[in-house]
Amino acid sequence: MSKWICVVSLAALMLVGCGEKGEYATIGTGGVTGVYYPAGGAMAKLANRNRAEGGTRFAVESTAGSVYNINAVLAGDLQFGIAQSDRQYQAVNGLAEWKDRGAQGDLRAVCSLHPETVTLVAADDANIRTLADLRGKRVSIGNPGSGNRGNALDVLNAAGIAWKTDIKAEELDAKVMASSLNDGRIDAFFYTVGHPNSSIMEATAGRRKIRFVPITGMDTLIAASPYYAKATIPADFYPAAANTNKTVETIGMMTTVVTSAKVKDDVVYALTKAVFENLDELRKQHPAFKHLTKEGMLKGLSAPIHPGAMKYFKEAGLK
Ligand code: GLU
Repeated sequence: MSKWICVVSLAALMLVGCGEKGEYATIGTGGVTGVYYPAGGAMAKLANRNRAEGGTRFAVESTAGSVYNINAVLAGDLQFGIAQSDRQYQAVNGLAEWKDRGAQGDLRAVCSLHPETVTLVAADDANIRTLADLRGKRVSIGNPGSGNRGNALDVLNAAGIAWKTDIKAEELDAKVMASSLNDGRIDAFFYTVGHPNSSIMEATAGRRKIRFVPITGMDTLIAASPYYAKATIPADFYPAAANTNKTVETIGMMTTVVTSAKVKDDVVYALTKAVFENLDELRKQHPAFKHLTKEGMLKGLSAPIHPGAMKYFKEAGLK
């Protein structure tokens, strides 16, 4: 499926490239069954509709996720990336995946979007009710380049579980996690994502009943990391899940949009304005966007705000 999306968007880019003088800006998202992909698509659609003659043409790309997006934005391969707020913080401060390369001074923030939660989905028949029950199980921690891989490792570490020896760790792409769980290839997966999303919908619609496993005992982790907060998974979005308690405890963060200091002000301004001025419409594009507010979308940013975005926020009286 994603191969076809790539082919189609490439063809669209080539067509546009033949006839118009404007620039292109690509937004890096995540797996097609996550929330980043429809989020990027909705933003690009709004920005393209309002585009002045010769203005920027926005496109989206399905990618490995947050870490990939930040690195591709910094390398100039993507102009925008959707990334978890914890990953934005880590890149700006030279932590986690950026420890060896140091603080990424060119990273810029555009805005925040919806909240995400670290979500542990287990097959009900695997008898995983707590983090400790993961010992000896086959667990997907997420693909390299995803935001969730680091969250899974943080949570396992906080629970005293060594990911290399205590579990059989798999590094599956977001788009195959649900089918792998249903096929019995894994017992559980970690996915950091907004709700509802089609990956978990797919998991709950499969042969094996699924259950959300609470992620508790994280107070020390939260206190040591400015980017994590307590959160709950609204399990009633997934009526087929085995949980009787419909709010499942976990930790979470925000989804953010990042760019590079090297991206031109007018390109960032155009995207920011299109998103903020059409917020009512954006809220209707996906249930995870239902509660977006202009004020909330300025929170959770640790990189400096890009001057193009700031120009819009000033004009709109938001800053
Ligand atoms: N949080 C995930 C990541 O950074 C992506 C979630 C989504 O695609 O909605 O890799």
